[in-house]
Amino acid sequence: MHILLVEDEPAIADTLVYALKTECFEVHHALTGQAALDAFAAQPFDFAILDIGLPDMTGLEVCKKLRETSAVPVLFLTARDGEVDRILGLELGGDDYVTKPFSPREIVARIRAILRRAQNNRPFPTPAAPAANPENPGAPLQNDPHAMRIHCHGSALDLTAHEYKLLLVFLKNPRRVLSRDQLLDHAWADPGAVTDRTIDAHIKSIRAKLRSAKAGAEDLIQTRRGLGYFFQP
Ligand code: CA
Repeated sequence: MHILLVEDEPAIADTLVYALKTECFEVHHALTGQAALDAFAAQPFDFAILDIGLPDMTGLEVCKKLRETSAVPVLFLTARDGEVDRILGLELGGDDYVTKPFSPREIVARIRAILRRAQNNRPFPTPAAPAANPENPGAPLQNDPHAMRIHCHGSALDLTAHEYKLLLVFLKNPRRVLSRDQLLDHAWADPGAVTDRTIDAHIKSIRAKLRSAKAGAEDLIQTRRGLGYFFQP
């Protein structure tokens, strides 16, 4: 169970991350709405905890954007026990809200309750993003967002986390030249820490894995000299 936590107050976030990890949830913590949306675009999450007061946008706006592509269950954190928050949040597709200060135990109980409801009421776990090729089941590469695995002609590829994220960027952007900078931005949490050569090395490794799944499959990712890479499904 992978949870996206968006909270700009480190003390609250640290307490929550610790409590959630103790309960065996995996947690990705984002400090801003934009960081949360980027993380959500890069990988699937089963649950989102959104603080309403964020430095760059409100948690409600984050929820609205998430709802464009996903039915992921959302729990809001709010500093004000106002009816407005409640109505706005739930209208936007939030599943519940908790008013600060709260105990981590309360949050965990709410999450479990929401997940139980979600399990009964709609397909679960909710996909974070539409399948890569929903309209084309015969496509050579298929992403399984729940298992976070990509299959090449039916065989599961044994990818590292970065290779998976990179290949996912290609799957979501077929027939489009992607520069190394764009790939870095989408597949690395801290793009400043890596270089163009890192991308090249990962692409080389992905191609080798595609080739061992099926001869010729390495050509799905093509080099555009001086520009970047191109996914030809
Ligand atoms: Ca806040």
